Amino acid sequence: MNHSNSSDTQNEVAHEAESKKMRSGWIRQSSYVSLPDLFYRQCQPALGGGIESGGGNVPKMVIFNTALADSLGLEAPDPESLAAYLAGAGAYEYPPLAMAYAGHQFGHLTMLGDGRAHLLGEHITPDDARFDVQLKGSGATPYSRGGDGKAALAPLLREYIMSEALAALNIPTTRSLAVVATGENVIRETILAGAVLTRLAASHLRIGTFEFAAAQQDKAALVALADYAIARHDPNLVDKRHPYIALLRGVMRRQISLIVAWLRVGFVHGVMNTDNTTLSGETIDYGPCAFIDEYNANAVFSAIDEKGRYAFVRQADIIKWNLARFAEALLPLFHKHIEHAAQMAQEVIEEFDAYFLDEWLAMMRGKFGLTETASDDSGNARTSDGVMFGAFLTHLQTHKIDYTNFFRGLNPDNSDLPSDLKEQYQARFRQNKKSPAIALEMMRTANPARIPRNHLVEAALNAATQDDLAPLHDLLAACATPYTSDPNFSKYEKPPNEDERVRYTFCGT
Ligand code: AMP
Ligand code: MG
Repeated sequence: MNHSNSSDTQNEVAHEAESKKMRSGWIRQSSYVSLPDLFYRQCQPALGGGIESGGGNVPKMVIFNTALADSLGLEAPDPESLAAYLAGAGAYEYPPLAMAYAGHQFGHLTMLGDGRAHLLGEHITPDDARFDVQLKGSGATPYSRGGDGKAALAPLLREYIMSEALAALNIPTTRSLAVVATGENVIRETILAGAVLTRLAASHLRIGTFEFAAAQQDKAALVALADYAIARHDPNLVDKRHPYIALLRGVMRRQISLIVAWLRVGFVHGVMNTDNTTLSGETIDYGPCAFIDEYNANAVFSAIDEKGRYAFVRQADIIKWNLARFAEALLPLFHKHIEHAAQMAQEVIEEFDAYFLDEWLAMMRGKFGLTETASDDSGNARTSDGVMFGAFLTHLQTHKIDYTNFFRGLNPDNSDLPSDLKEQYQARFRQNKKSPAIALEMMRTANPARIPRNHLVEAALNAATQDDLAPLHDLLAACATPYTSDPNFSKYEKPPNEDERVRYTFCGT
């Protein structure tokens, strides 16, 4: 291109102004440093310095989430001007830090921490919502345990796709603002392009953060962490007689809602370790996650989950187990006598089953368009609605029926249903007190037309690693309006052929 010098300079000035615009009101606090020092370590992302010294690689914006930026109140930035900043080579508002945490991984407690992530601070939106801004894949930290702290492009784009799809499905999740290619190579089984994801989260507090605190045997630190969590996620609990018990219950309720929402759309997280379970109730740490195509209660996609610990329907049991670990970590805050504290914790955890069942039944009623609880509903899965839902799921499992399409196409007159199921469903549907139009609307907001199907996710990631971003953008567009059927996206509404089926996913770390 044949630019004059003066227009080059003008462009540079414009770029500078654009990036300032996004950053005005951007990251106005770094509240995590108010916690005791043991909870974090300040450290610089890997690219810091490399660029400024002139010898480093040139980061390139791969994808920037303009819609998310808008919703955060960030004025239209020029994404390219942000590439270095979001790759870990910025002049940051606050010293970047890695958070300490522990976690039960496949049942075993390990000391962890952000081994490949840097927290930049918090963005506060015009309507006062607060988000952690974190770079992921941004280099080694004091918690890297020998890892390189880096991430490859495809797994980060996978997190981008899956998190944005869950958000569009109205399911709590961390968000993906951008993926930047660092220009560096990452050595895995092969040499891959390195990348950094910008992740936004209501916070990065995990059950594992509390397990870390408990392992320090420092009650003051544990109190500080719990108070910080309450201030961030449950400020109304401050005045409760037992605020920490209320925190446990609040986290339990949020996690129950989250798992029930995953079950609604057929999402398998894949690594529900306690370090991947948030206090906020957001889905976090997208690794070998996937959506089921044909219904299978025992679906496992993660190549490392050999025993099916985190299989589709086991997610309910596992979250209860994780919450019990959370309760144990909080014990010293419940009561000075440990037996009494354990009793208090036990009482909360025992509420789990009833809460879970209620939420699951309500969710399933939405999928079936049942506008009220059944007249004989006793809140027991073994009676009334629970029995019917179970019979339908058994039918789907036996005949390997596509979960998404079955529910999207469901209506009481559906001629594909076996006659016994159809008669039960018709009879139950006739008990509705609200109109069929309201019931149908309920079903449309419970049953998506489109999910990010594994074979199309894989295809989009393969193309993206060959520099073809068109399939990625098309997939993201298809998943941005999941509850609206759209003939333009018919490709995304079809289950895979036998030869397209993806059986395993890898976390790619
Ligand atoms: P994740 O599977 O993303 O939940 O990560 C589990 C733990 O491993 C976290 O403590 C990560 O920070 C750490 N980790 C994952 N990949 C790397 C890496 N490439 N280098 C250093 N630490 C890593
Ligand atoms: Mg994790």
